[in-house]
Amino acid sequence: MSSHRHDDHDHDHNAPDTGPTLRVKALETLLVEKGLVDPAALDALVDTYEHKVGPRNGARVVARAWVDAGFRARLLADAVAAIEEIGLAAGPQGEHLTVLENTPAVHNMVVCTLCSCYPWPVLGLPPVWYKSAAYRSRAVIDPRGVLREFGFELPAGVELRVWDSSAELRYMVLPMRPAGTEHLAEDELAALVTRDSMIGTALVTYPAGAAARPVK
Ligand code: FE
Repeated sequence: MSSHRHDDHDHDHNAPDTGPTLRVKALETLLVEKGLVDPAALDALVDTYEHKVGPRNGARVVARAWVDAGFRARLLADAVAAIEEIGLAAGPQGEHLTVLENTPAVHNMVVCTLCSCYPWPVLGLPPVWYKSAAYRSRAVIDPRGVLREFGFELPAGVELRVWDSSAELRYMVLPMRPAGTEHLAEDELAALVTRDSMIGTALVTYPAGAAARPVK
């Protein structure tokens, strides 16, 4: 495994849900009482990552890459500069974003084996399963089995690459554009793109919600 620095967030994913939550609340109360933190600023930060920044940003990036080959090339070469082109700022947990392109021959899947490193500016906050010990270990030990549980069978001939995120390197998958979408506008394409498809645990389907077709 590559060098892995994880000093920027909580590592305590195996503790019962109530423990860390209670500690965070106690800590927040203490910081507010001592005047070290403005609760409104804290609320604004949480609101930003829960509601304003989320996988819809990543979906916009994907749709643009599907319709604009020049943007796609720039995105794969320098994701941080490319997302700024469409008005997204790299910001916290996005400074070292790399975009991995799925093709008929290669399927990419992202994990953080040590904790929960994730590209916040394009995908928002990570889903609970992404932080689970089960996903973090099984994505490496049996990635095809994990994909099967997410609903699709990756054909044996397709190479599966599993990427381990860290504080220095955060990944987003550029999923394949589904067949039959040639007539769709960019915003209609963006609406098809799911969060999981940008983690690599799902394919983009058309119509949205259709059974995932295997990567051919
Ligand atoms: Fe991590």
